[in-house]
Amino acid sequence: MAGMSPTVLDTFSLAGRTALVTGGYRGLGLAFARALAEAGADVVIGARDEAASRDAAADLAAETGRTVVGLGLDVTDRDSVTRAVEAAVEATGRLDVLVNNAGACVHRPALEVPDDEWDEVFDTNVRGLWLMSQVAGRHFADRGSGVIVNIGSISGLIVNRPQWQPAYNASKAAVHQLTKSLAAEWAPLGIRVNAVAPGYVRTEMAPVDDPAFKPRWIDDAPMQRYALPEEIAPTVVYLASDASSFMTGSVVVVDGGYTTF
Ligand code: NDP
Repeated sequence: MAGMSPTVLDTFSLAGRTALVTGGYRGLGLAFARALAEAGADVVIGARDEAASRDAAADLAAETGRTVVGLGLDVTDRDSVTRAVEAAVEATGRLDVLVNNAGACVHRPALEVPDDEWDEVFDTNVRGLWLMSQVAGRHFADRGSGVIVNIGSISGLIVNRPQWQPAYNASKAAVHQLTKSLAAEWAPLGIRVNAVAPGYVRTEMAPVDDPAFKPRWIDDAPMQRYALPEEIAPTVVYLASDASSFMTGSVVVVDGGYTTF
């Protein structure tokens, strides 16, 4: 109503804004894209599988009534990143939120990790996130506002045993530190940068229902279960919205208590 100050729920609204979600056609990224659209945002989904991104975007548009665009994007390729940011602005008229969700993980003991697997994990999780942030960051700096939500992991905070994944663990620690670094540097430009560090979430990356995977961790978890992607998504909406207007440089752990020990 005219003249009324916004309620707390109003501050969570993303109406009139556009969010770009990397790797947004499946798993956590799809849950983030859906939640952002439900909060009122227009959404752009980008991943290497362009057809899957377009299909997911069409489904989400029908489901939420928002403009949702799917496009091909390789976060490790600067030209592709630049094209995606330009396409997002062209398709929806603006870009307000970047969710750096695309990620890669390899489970292998340190003595057996070949160079190409190390490079794939770091190229995707760190260099890709960096390229996306720098290109979108230039756009945000020009307009004097913008929000970046990076998807880190509890693997950037602790070491799971015996799911050895040294490259992934190190890459996610880098994501957390890059979050803080960009937050400090870009706060004067009106850009907020935060990260979410999820615990285990059922997706293709973490086949938690596979008996070979599941028993390794579930007994150690205080809540003794994994999360569904929908349980991480509200935190992303919170960090993307004005509800978190005084937060920058934070790494928000959403892990069912896993890192309490
Ligand atoms: P998935 O493997 O299900 O999805 C990964 C997505 O990233 C896919 O859409 C994939 O699409 C995309 N992607 C990978 N490489 C690239 C690239 N070079 N350019 C663009 N997109 C790319 O993983 P999750 O949904 O499980 O993970 C999402 C994020 O959450 C990751 O950052 C992951 O590290 C993090 N995370 C996951 C946890 C879990 O338990 N599942 C726990 C903590 C953090 P395509 O291959 O077509 O490009």
